[in-house]
Amino acid sequence: MKLNENYRSLSRSYLFSEVEKRAGAFREKHPNQELIRLGIGDVTLPLAAPVVAALHRSAEEMKEKETFRGYAPEHGYPFLRAAVRRHLESCGAAVRDEEIFISSGAKDDLAGILSLFGAGNTVLIQDPVYPVYADTSIMAGNRIVWMKAERENDFLPMPPKDCRADLIYLCSPNNPTGKAYSHAQLEQWVQYADACGAVLIFDSAYEAFIEQDGIPHSIYEIPGAQTCAIEIASFSKTAGFTGLRCGYTVVPCALRRCGQSLNAMWERRKSVSTNGVAYVIQRAAEAVYTPEGSKAVQAAIRYYKTNAAVIVHALQSAKIFCCGGVNSPYIWMKCPAKMTSWQFFDYLLKTAGVVGTPGAGFGAAGEGYFRLTGFGDAEKTRQAAARLVQAAGAL
Ligand SMILES: *Cc1c(COP(=O)(O)O)cnc(C)c1O
Repeated sequence: MKLNENYRSLSRSYLFSEVEKRAGAFREKHPNQELIRLGIGDVTLPLAAPVVAALHRSAEEMKEKETFRGYAPEHGYPFLRAAVRRHLESCGAAVRDEEIFISSGAKDDLAGILSLFGAGNTVLIQDPVYPVYADTSIMAGNRIVWMKAERENDFLPMPPKDCRADLIYLCSPNNPTGKAYSHAQLEQWVQYADACGAVLIFDSAYEAFIEQDGIPHSIYEIPGAQTCAIEIASFSKTAGFTGLRCGYTVVPCALRRCGQSLNAMWERRKSVSTNGVAYVIQRAAEAVYTPEGSKAVQAAIRYYKTNAAVIVHALQSAKIFCCGGVNSPYIWMKCPAKMTSWQFFDYLLKTAGVVGTPGAGFGAAGEGYFRLTGFGDAEKTRQAAARLVQAAGAL
């Protein structure tokens, strides 16, 4: 018996369990004080009405012999692949239907995509980071080279001078920093990946939160990306599908490495590892792109971003450095008074009854920072922002 020994190299993930432990202990000691959660990484608004209507309609179809559906096509129903293609086209990204693979979420494909590559690759990953890129890379036996995202580089690391990467992960708009790469910056990344023969894995989970011009929604808006980039996307944050589960991955036909088509390899991989995503879920995802669906989904995103703006405004009035919150639901703040991430967590919990996420939990370079999110309730977010300003003023 041989185990995957790489699992031994994983560090214990304790961030969210530790947050819960400390919040729970506080609640027990102070049962009458209301805790407000500004650390949520999940959506909280219900599904949009047009999405629920599509779920109902498609469930009714399953009742009749004529319209019942069995196994779904393993790469997605043509109606959804075409809807995703039209969406990407509307962003200025030209992709073909057969390059789009419907998935049950971004995380599934972030883990699966590494099966296309051998072990021992060198992987460029930002620090702080969404932990999935690093953990899946470690499990696959890759070597990680960290790129610090810090104030000096505006939290947007650019390509290193030397060509040493086989794989590069970029998440824009970013979780946890809330920062997004410009068109010109992504051009540099695409040129770098192409020059090194590396593959860029672009996570666009927060694409729908972009409001500024000049910030690409898709990596395929960048010339040359077709030969070096894979895009992994999700309906989770865009349309509240964290519970329904649906996303898509784009692997261009022009993307080849070592004489092989990665599109053909991914098609093969998906064929042996999944029988597709439920029909009703794909109809629900399709509804996101209808005029009514898109309007409803945009309203929810505006709600979350108004919350984010309230938090940013409060931090600015307290003269605390922060970034994000503009093209993203996330705000990345500097802990005041030179506190560490966990010191500030405890301070904020004790003095304000507000729960956030310590930046150190996203990587060593996150030490001294703190993540807040706009995914909460609007009124509670306003209260929490006021308490935050007061707590910071007392320092
Ligand atoms: C939430 C999130 C996702 C979405 O994952 P799903 O599995 O589709 O729910 C992907 N990437 C990042 C960075 C995220 O924060």
